[in-house]
Amino acid sequence: MGEKKFRSDQLWRSLYHDVSNSFEEMSTLSKPFRKSLREKYSISTLKEVMALTSSDRTTSKSLYRLCDGELIETVMMRYESDGHRRNRKTACISTQAGCALGCTFCATGQQGFRRNLTVGEIVAQVIEMQRVAIAEDLDQIDGGQRTKGEVQGVTNVVFMGMGEPLANYKNTISAIRVLNDGQGLNIGARHITVSTVGLIPEILKLADEDLQINLAISLHAPDNATRSQTMPVNKRYPVEELINACHKYAAKTKRRIFFEYVLLKEQNDSIEQAQKLGRLLNGLHCHVNLIPVNPTRDGPFERTDLIVAKSFQGGLKQYGIPSTVRMEKGIDINAGCGQLRERAIEILDN
Ligand code: SAH
Ligand code: SF4
Repeated sequence: MGEKKFRSDQLWRSLYHDVSNSFEEMSTLSKPFRKSLREKYSISTLKEVMALTSSDRTTSKSLYRLCDGELIETVMMRYESDGHRRNRKTACISTQAGCALGCTFCATGQQGFRRNLTVGEIVAQVIEMQRVAIAEDLDQIDGGQRTKGEVQGVTNVVFMGMGEPLANYKNTISAIRVLNDGQGLNIGARHITVSTVGLIPEILKLADEDLQINLAISLHAPDNATRSQTMPVNKRYPVEELINACHKYAAKTKRRIFFEYVLLKEQNDSIEQAQKLGRLLNGLHCHVNLIPVNPTRDGPFERTDLIVAKSFQGGLKQYGIPSTVRMEKGIDINAGCGQLRERAIEILDN
C-alpha cells in the first residue's frame, strides 16, 4: 500500500496485541493510512450468533457464523489459581467447520465435514476471547480484585473445538505461529495444545516443526477392536502404529505426550481395559486425561460414574501411568465439541 515498513509492525501490534476492533482506533497509524485500510479491508471474520455462559460462570461458549454462513464454536474456560498454578483463561478453538472423521461419540463428527478454516478464522477466535478476557481483567482491576498492570488476557489455547487440526495442517501451524508471536498475542508455545484423532504422517511432520507446543492424542481405547467401534480412523491408523509414532514424536521433541481418554460407560471403562492401556503406554513419557463423555443428542453413550473413573485411574497407576479425571466444564451449556451447533440448528430452523 506504499507505506513505510515500520507501519506493518504497528498494524500487526494493533491487530494482535491491542486486539483493536476497528481501524479508526489504531492511533499509531496515520489518518490517511487508516482511511485506506478501512476502504479495502475489514477486521473480523466472525459474527456471533449465540452465546451461553454456564451457571457457575466459569465457562462460556460462542457460536460464530463465518462469511459463507458456516457455523463454528469457541469456548472459554476460566480456572481459579489452585496454589500450584496461577489463574488461567483457556480458549478452546475450532479448526474446521464440521469434521470428516466421524467419531461416534462426537457431535461434530456426526454432522459431517464442511470445510477447513482459514488462518484468519482460527486466530480470530482467540482474538474474540482475548477481548472478553481483557475486559474481565479490567473490571477486576476497577473492583480492586487485581492490581493495576495485571492484564493477563487469554493464557492458554487448546485446539479442541470443532474439527481435526492436523487435517488442516498448514493453517493450524500458521495460526500457532501467529498466536505465539511476541509482538502479538504472545501465547507461549507451552500454553498451546493441539489435540488430534491420531493422523500418523502429520504427527511425524509436527515433530519436525520445532515448536514447543503440547500434543494431545485422542486414544479413547486400549486396543483396535474397542477403538474401531467408535473411531473409524482406527482402521487407517491402528493403535500399535499410532503408539509407535508417539514414541518417535517424544524422542524427537523430548516433550511429554497427553492422551485423551473419553470414558464411555461399559464400553471402554473396565479395570482390565485400564490395565491394558497401562501396558500399552508403559515406557512413554505421557499423561492421561480421563474424561467422562458428554452425551450427545443421538449418541448411545452414557457417562462413566466417578467411582469407576477413579478405579480406572488406579489400573493405570499399577503401570506407573499418571492420569487426571478431568473436571467437567460447561455441561449445562452443551460445551462438548459440536454440541451447540447441533442445538442451534434446531433452534434456528424452527
Ligand atoms: N479432532 C480432534 C480435536 C477436536 S475434539 C480430536 O479428536 O482430538 C477434542 C476432544 O474432545 C477429543 O479428545 C475428542 O475425542 C473429545 N470429544 C469429542 N466428543 C466428545 C464428547 N461427546 N464428550 C467428551 N469428549 C468428547
Ligand atoms: Fe472429528 Fe475430533 Fe470429533 Fe473425532 S472427536 S469427529 S476427530 S472433531
